[in-house]
Formats: sequence, structure tokens, C-alpha cells
Amino acid sequence: MKFAPAKPALTGETLETLTARLSERGEPAFRARQILDWVYKKRARSWDEMSNLSKPLRAWLAETFELMPIGLLFDKQSRDVTDKLLFELGDRALIETVIIRAPQEGVGLDESRKTICISTQVGCAMACKFCASGLAGLKRDLEAGEIVAQLLHVCYREDAHDPRAHAGLATFDNIVVMGMGEPLANYDAVLRALTIVNAEWGLGFGGRRITLSTSGLVPKILRLADEPLGFRLAISLHGATDEVREKIMPVNKAYPLEKLIPAIKVFTEKHGRMVTLEFILIEDVNDSLDQAAALRDIAADLHAHVNLIPYNTVEGLPWKRPSGNRMERFADVLREARVPVTLRREKGHDIDAACGQLRLKTEKDRETLEAAAG
Ligand code: SAH
Repeated sequence: MKFAPAKPALTGETLETLTARLSERGEPAFRARQILDWVYKKRARSWDEMSNLSKPLRAWLAETFELMPIGLLFDKQSRDVTDKLLFELGDRALIETVIIRAPQEGVGLDESRKTICISTQVGCAMACKFCASGLAGLKRDLEAGEIVAQLLHVCYREDAHDPRAHAGLATFDNIVVMGMGEPLANYDAVLRALTIVNAEWGLGFGGRRITLSTSGLVPKILRLADEPLGFRLAISLHGATDEVREKIMPVNKAYPLEKLIPAIKVFTEKHGRMVTLEFILIEDVNDSLDQAAALRDIAADLHAHVNLIPYNTVEGLPWKRPSGNRMERFADVLREARVPVTLRREKGHDIDAACGQLRLKTEKDRETLEAAAG
């Protein structure tokens, strides 16, 4: 299941690792910064563009690294709220990155909040019963360079839109690690990628505007609490008692609520910022008022924000979202206790729901896409 690329991706190197590689070749220390500047600031798409590097050095770089480890296969732009970018990896596996514009009251789509949702694995091993991404299991972890490359492609796309602005990720409000995969199950690669995304020599995106979402891997939540970059945390709770959660999330067997809740508390205390509890509402599964009351108690205890997400129907799965009325009554139980809660009802507008729709693409999808692209 481990992917062994022919060459490592340059987008997976940090300033330190690249400096070390270059010093083996007798290059001065400032060379690494020059190269990273070409990649992240000038957004060079070929080695030849890197004009302040000698020809032999460029030749060595080309032999040693893959400049861009993923290729854009399809860019599905919608005038609506979500755009989807489909990428092909070195082993032909497919992943998606989603751009979500969450409309704000009284402003046009261009001024809306913009979020990028990135993937961290091909498929997922968590096997949550309601989720499209886990239907075919885990194929493999993404490499750090493949995670960073998703965001670099978003920069290329912004450049194409407005070449003079050269805005990169500056027009985006948030990055959410909520695409395909369980980020904390691919911890080292994800943390390395986010270090590159955050670094001033990299994409320069603030750690506090990056949210990691997890199905609840307790030891990794505790480890994340000690990371210095201050990432935000969202927990996919989806059941407020073990009885309900266990039915839809197998991870609850290893990490039941009595282990998960104290870990979230540790994270909140170390961070000083509210954690988000995500709760998909699924009819007759977790939408009872008893669940609402149990969720209220957990959220109040954790000083957490609750994000209620109407379930998005997944082809081949039996569930549906509750009626609007029922969802409002559920939310009221939390509102009455002054627990901060959001419930967005417009179809497709919810970030988690949009990300949660990512499904492992099949060979059949590839054929259809290739035919569509001509
Ligand atoms: N593995 C991580 C991140 C990926 S899932 C996690 O579990 O948090 C991102 C979010 O989408 C999660 O909250 C997930 O539970 C949610 N989601 C999955 N399927 C969904 C669906 N059909 N409708 C709405 N949200 C869904």
C-alpha cells in the first residue's frame, strides 16, 4: 500500500531537507531558498524558468526531484458554490480538491468566504457507514508533496484568473483538511505538508486558518495538541452516545466517548480556541431529541461549537436527511442552552458536506472524464 515514487516531489521538501540535499552537492545555503522561491512565489512550472540557477544545477534538480507530482485532469467550475479539481497522481490514482465559496448575507459570490478542502489519502480506512470516501477502503496515504501540490495548483488557477494579482492563497479564508481520507491516520505526511503550507518560504498560509477534521483518533489528537502551528480542530462526532456513534463509526470501538472527550478537552486547554463538533443529521439514526440533549451536554462541557450538517445522500447508501422541521427542533435544544450552533440548510452550501461527498473515482469515471475532455 506504500507508494514508492520514482523521484521525490520537490513540493514535499522543507527548507531544512532541501538545504541538506543541496549541501551534499556543495551548494551554498541560500540556494534552497532561491529554489523554493521559484516554486512557491514565482510559481515556475519548469526547471528552465529558474534562470538564476546554473544549468548543471537545474539538470541535477530535474534528475533528483519531480517538480510537480500531480497533474490536473479536470477542473469542474460551477457558478454555484463549489468547484472541484480532479488530480491524477504518479500511480494514476485520483484525488479531488474542492473550492467552496460560502455565500454571505448581502454580498455577491466574489466576496463570499472562500475555503479550500484538501485530501490526505486515496480512499479511507475509517469505514464510517454514511461516508462516500470510505466505501472502497484505503488505497494509500498521500505523500506530503502530493498534499502541498493540491494547493499549489489552486495558486496556478488563481494566477490564470488574474495574472497581475499573483495572489496565491491570499484570497482564501480557510484551508480545511476534510477531503478524502483521515488526516490523523497519515499524521507525519500531513504535518509536514502543513508546515510547508504555513512556512514563509512556502505558501505562507496562517496555521490558525487551517482546520484539521478527524473521526477521533485519540492518541493523534493529543499529539496534535502539542504542535506549535496552532491548527484548528474539528471532530466528526455524529453520535452523542456510544450506542449511536458505534453503529455508524467503527472508530468508536477503539476510542469511545469516555476517551475522546477528555482528549478534546486537552486540545482545547492547550489551544485556547473552540473546537468544532461536526454532527451530520441522518433521519432515524441520530436525529432524536435525546441525541440533541446528549450533544448539548457534551458541547457545553467542552465549550465547543456545534456544526449541524444535513446528511447528503450517497448513492448506494440507505440514509437520508431529516425534515427541515425536525432539524430545527434538534438545533433548538442546543440554542436553548446557549451552545453556539450552526445549521445551514441550503443544499451543498455546507463545507463539511461538500467535502464529505468525495468518493474514490473508478476506472469507469476516468473513461467518462477522458471522453468528456476530448
Ligand atoms: N476523516 C475526516 C475528514 C474527512 S470527512 C473526518 O472524519 O472528519 C469530512 C466531513 O464530511 C466529516 O465530518 C464527515 O463526517 C462528513 N461527511 C461524510 N459523508 C457525509 C455526507 N454524506 N453528508 C454530509 N457530511 C458527510
